[in-house]
Amino acid sequence: MHLPERFTPLWRPPPGAAAAARWFLFRGGSLLVRTSGSRLDVPEVAAGEAPPLPGEEIRCIGTWGETPCFAAQAGPGELPDGLTLAPLRALFDQLPDALLAIAGRAAQILDFDRTHRHCGVCAAPTELGDDGRARRCTRCEATSYPRIAPAMMALVTRTGPAGRELLLARGTRFNVPIYSALAGFVEPSESLEECVHREVREEVGVAVEHLRYFGSQCWPFPHSLMVAFLAEHAGGEIACDPGEIVDAQWFPVDRLPMLPHRLSVARKLIDFAVSEARGGAAPGLRGEAALRP
Ligand SMILES: [Zn+2]
Repeated sequence: MHLPERFTPLWRPPPGAAAAARWFLFRGGSLLVRTSGSRLDVPEVAAGEAPPLPGEEIRCIGTWGETPCFAAQAGPGELPDGLTLAPLRALFDQLPDALLAIAGRAAQILDFDRTHRHCGVCAAPTELGDDGRARRCTRCEATSYPRIAPAMMALVTRTGPAGRELLLARGTRFNVPIYSALAGFVEPSESLEECVHREVREEVGVAVEHLRYFGSQCWPFPHSLMVAFLAEHAGGEIACDPGEIVDAQWFPVDRLPMLPHRLSVARKLIDFAVSEARGGAAPGLRGEAALRP
């Protein structure tokens, strides 16, 4: 999920904006979308027109081309004809990728507002601060910025009996038999590299070396930043942590199981490793190029 090139992130509406506007309205974590034929779209209204539902806690989140984009909690009221609510995760392949990425930014900012209405220090109400980037306590002035949770992802590779192989695992949280790279949240005082070594050891019991940074990607469920690495197997047999991993195996690159969605950094990392194993990856190519749509 990458914001489109023509999107400019903002925290305040652009000056003199009286143009058409795109509305990312949420109710209970679901996004209001317009059905137009077989496709879904995010409602856009003409200059001076009201949003399709009244919004609360309205935020300008940027401009896409010339069009300001607003995020808000949808107020009460019946949905107008042709509009429906859907959880963001259900909109992969339903919404255009660009709109899905902008909706991810909208969801994160609204979630930040919703969960930081009161000060974590003294519990007094907060208000917007730092030109809209933060929430500041109205009593003690403690300031909070949107929380981003860094998580590492590691695709462990080796040259095994069947040539180049990838270590892919099925997590306990997947309810479909999808195999993916390993992932875990960075802990306090830990570097990304230390996190890779620890998580890989904890989840599947193997040691790794030769970490190579691949790329990063926002994952707004609810506010992760996935930082992906390639890592070479340095020793140890697979021993799964049953609390996290149902199954993990070495898969030859030409016999891969069901993989994650094409928009996930995990899939791009796996595709890159497969391409590299087949000699097709451009030397030096990393995520910045491989991750772009
Ligand atoms: Zn306070």
